[in-house]
This record gives sequence, structure tokens and C-alpha cells, in this order.
Amino acid sequence: MNTTRRDFLTVAVSAAGATATHDLAHAEAHDHQGVPSDVVLRVKSLESLLVEKGLVDPAALDAVVDAYEHKVGPRNGARIIAHAWIDPAYKQRLLANGPAALAEFGYGGTHGEDTLVVENTPRVHNLVVCTLCSCYPWPLLGLPPVWYKSAPYRSRAVIDPRGVLREFGLALADDVEVRVWDSTAELRYLVLPERPAGSEQLSEEALAALITRDAMIGVAKVAFPQKGARL
Ligand code: FE
Repeated sequence: MNTTRRDFLTVAVSAAGATATHDLAHAEAHDHQGVPSDVVLRVKSLESLLVEKGLVDPAALDAVVDAYEHKVGPRNGARIIAHAWIDPAYKQRLLANGPAALAEFGYGGTHGEDTLVVENTPRVHNLVVCTLCSCYPWPLLGLPPVWYKSAPYRSRAVIDPRGVLREFGLALADDVEVRVWDSTAELRYLVLPERPAGSEQLSEEALAALITRDAMIGVAKVAFPQKGARL
């Protein structure tokens, strides 16, 4: 099973819930070897049965997995952000009318019909959550991470956003305003992170490589690599 396939199934695991945001982030970050969870086993059994009975073409399943591996994912969002950083006119269009500016790159459609782009500044930090379920800008970021779908993140992001951010390793100064955006099926959000100091000479492609999924959700900042690090 390749990584993407495993990640695809990992999404199903979130339905089983978890005890803490940190545990989920930890579980996602490591390739734990163990007995698959009940939900994963059920998903695999269902898939086997559907294929066996001829109700689903394995090639169709592979096409879905391939789409999320190669066509949909955080690299799309990173491409948008990097372009906004180097092209002020595009940035203005992106903030003023997200769907139109995203459509310039061919992004939109399912789970991304309407997207509001919110800009981080030295005084404002934006954080995205879906308190109801797991609404997320799929065309720009791919499938949501497990922790994003977890009950602890969904509830605590609105109750104690600074505490949640600290657990992600992001300590904000008291004078930075935190804005929490609650996604819905109709409107999703993408954070436009601050361009890191020291990145002035980087190409658009090199900038895009710095931009992480977490920074576009708002649980991290974009960091400029230390001297000597490979870009
Ligand atoms: Fe949702």
C-alpha cells in the first residue's frame, strides 16, 4: 500500500474520533505499524466486497486515489499563495474575489465553490475550523488532515484558539488579534500567510515550496529555512 492510499484510508479513521488534538497530530505524523482500526478494516472489507460483486471498478477507485495524490493537494494552495506574494495585483484580486482569482489558476468546483481568502498580518492572525464537521477547501488543500476533523480541534479552536495554536507550536503575542473562521459547505477559507523575512530573493517556485498546508489553515506560520538548509 503506498503512502497516499494509506493516507486516504487514514481519513476514515477520523470517524472513530480521538482523545486529543495533539494525539491526532502525533498519530498523523508517524507511520505507526499496528493492527488497523475497526473503521479501516470495515472500509477495506466494503471496498473488497464492492469490487468482488462488480459494483465498483478497481480502476475507478485508483483514479480517485490518483486524483488526490497528483491533482488535488496543498501544493495547489501553495502555488496560489506564492503567486499572491510576488504579484500585488493578484493578491488584491484574491482577497477581493477568491473564486474569480482562484479560477485564473483553474481551481474551483467540488468543495471549493466559494472560498474566502483571509490575510495574516503582523497584527492579525487567521485560523480556520469547521465546528460542525470538516468543511475544507479541497481543490486548494486536498483532503483535510485527521486532526482538523477531530472533535477537540473543532471545539477548542473557537473556545481557546491561542491555546490550540500553542499546542501546534505557534505562540502569538498578546497584541495580535486572532480571527477564527468557521467553514461551511457554502463558504470555505484559505489563509494567506505572511511572507517570511529573508525570502525576498526567492523565486515563485521556491516560495511555494516553503508554504505548508498548516500555514494555509492558520495553525502555523511559513518559516524561512535556516542558512544551509536545502530549498
Ligand atoms: Fe464541515
